[in-house]
Amino acid sequence: MDAKTEVPRLDFIRDIVTADLAADRHQGRVATRFPPEPNGYLHLGHAKSICLNFGVARDFNGTCNLRFDDTNPVTEDVEYVRAIQEDVQWLGFSWDDRLYYASDYFEHLYECAVQLIRDGKAYVDSLTADEIRAHRGTLTEPGRESPYRSRTADENLDLFSRMRAGDFPDGAHVLRAKIDMASPNITMRDPVLYRVRRAHHHRTGDTWCLYPMYDYAHPLSDAFEQITHSLCTLEFEEHRPLYDWLIANVTGLPSQPRQIEFARLNLSYTVMSKRKLLQLVNERHVTGWDDPRMPTLSGVRRRGFTPEALRRFCDEIGVAKRENLIDVGLLEFCVREDLNARAPRAMAVLTPLKVVIENYPEGQTETFAVANHPDRPEFGTRDVPFSREIYIERDDFMEEPARKFFRLAPGREVRLRNAYFVTCTGVVKDATGTITELRCTYDPATRGGDAPDGRKVKGTLHWVSAAHAVDAEVRLYDRLFTVESPGTGDADFLTQINPGALEVRTGCKLEPSLAPVEAGARFQFERTGYFCADSDTTPGRPVFNRTVTLKDSYK
Ligand code: ATP
Ligand code: MG
Repeated sequence: MDAKTEVPRLDFIRDIVTADLAADRHQGRVATRFPPEPNGYLHLGHAKSICLNFGVARDFNGTCNLRFDDTNPVTEDVEYVRAIQEDVQWLGFSWDDRLYYASDYFEHLYECAVQLIRDGKAYVDSLTADEIRAHRGTLTEPGRESPYRSRTADENLDLFSRMRAGDFPDGAHVLRAKIDMASPNITMRDPVLYRVRRAHHHRTGDTWCLYPMYDYAHPLSDAFEQITHSLCTLEFEEHRPLYDWLIANVTGLPSQPRQIEFARLNLSYTVMSKRKLLQLVNERHVTGWDDPRMPTLSGVRRRGFTPEALRRFCDEIGVAKRENLIDVGLLEFCVREDLNARAPRAMAVLTPLKVVIENYPEGQTETFAVANHPDRPEFGTRDVPFSREIYIERDDFMEEPARKFFRLAPGREVRLRNAYFVTCTGVVKDATGTITELRCTYDPATRGGDAPDGRKVKGTLHWVSAAHAVDAEVRLYDRLFTVESPGTGDADFLTQINPGALEVRTGCKLEPSLAPVEAGARFQFERTGYFCADSDTTPGRPVFNRTVTLKDSYK
């Protein structure tokens, strides 16, 4: 929405909605729904769908329902129902009092099926699943009609009620729509509407042993809820004739929803199918659905992504009809931009090297009041202590500096950010030749980080006072996969997992203001990136996740 003119940002879906409103279809109503199946956690692709469905409702003063498409009891679970609600709310959207479950419609859906049978538009088939498949034909060959297709309505009604009553074993019969076995669209070759399945449902318990298929339940649920625009991803394009057939042939529906397909989000270096994400979790390639390496909403939340950044990302990618691959760098760019504006700054040393400032008085401490954000004075300041021994990053020092290395080296002067200029005067090594400590002197006249004589230094380092430092674990993340499109071609996506996607650094040194940090707090650690306190944080022992680096890889 353009705030100034209140004109919705247009895309082909909003164009359709605008035209429908102009033509006074659906009595001027706009009603969408987000229909997750509770068989996994939501991922970034779902964020696109959520932003679209709730966004269209917002832009046209309509409504958006949250509907659990819980028609497959075998794979569904209340844990997912809970997590999905949490994620949608976290993204910043509200379904108000419009929370629905397809399972609430089981009785109504059953009645619709009975009507189709009475009208001669559905029949009970007793072929086996294999036989049904064999009869279905191929893209080039028409299907063959089942010998049970000509059962009378009465016979079908009797069998269907006994399917519901539990008279038959799983798989003995199915209910099929009677459409056209010669249709060029395989979906229309008498699709299965119901199957017998003895499975405990997370909401209806053992009430049912007969469950509707998604393709049957979905359009009718849309109609029951008086959805006007049923937005779904492109793989459902071929199912649209069935959607329309059901809406046209089930009588007494309160509305005539229209299905519109859009391209799903595909993100480079990422897998985005719940089946694959579940496999990563179950086979313990990650620590859980909320592992910060995961593209799940709970994963990126734990990693430190903000809902604002995700919404901005969804705005940037827009909605189109054609599949494409979005550069994950664009997502990281949106996160970086958002955090740059909102994350307070702090100093943290991830690979500490001790520095002793020889001419600084022993036992002395002074504090610098440092701004929490360079452009936002309202963020205030914090006290950062300075003393004789500090830590700097190990790679901010080179004993024999390379040509373009402007940081610390023997004899060289650099700035300690917000503190003093220091000059390296000595290097201490252990028996193996590893540098264990640096010796420096400081210039008291440069307090605050500037020289009164105007002399310049090329390097500015972040640092933490050793005596005041808080020890922390920091987890550095990289992309979960080593290839742009994991699992394409013959490749098994599991073989393309990036073993370096998580690097755990212990013994990191944080400035003391970070000691009382609470899980979820986000910071820019100066010069190293954006970080978010992890839920593993315990009092006095922070654990941080690197959300994104400072470097922009998006072109
Ligand atoms: P997956 O393919 O990951 O298993 P799904 O489509 O089976 O996902 P649902 O729970 O059925 O998962 O999805 C809920 C809604 O989110 C659907 O309308 C679906 O079209 C949409 N959706 C799922 N994945 C994406 C994606 N990558 N991009 C955009 N929308 C998506
Ligand atoms: Mg689905």
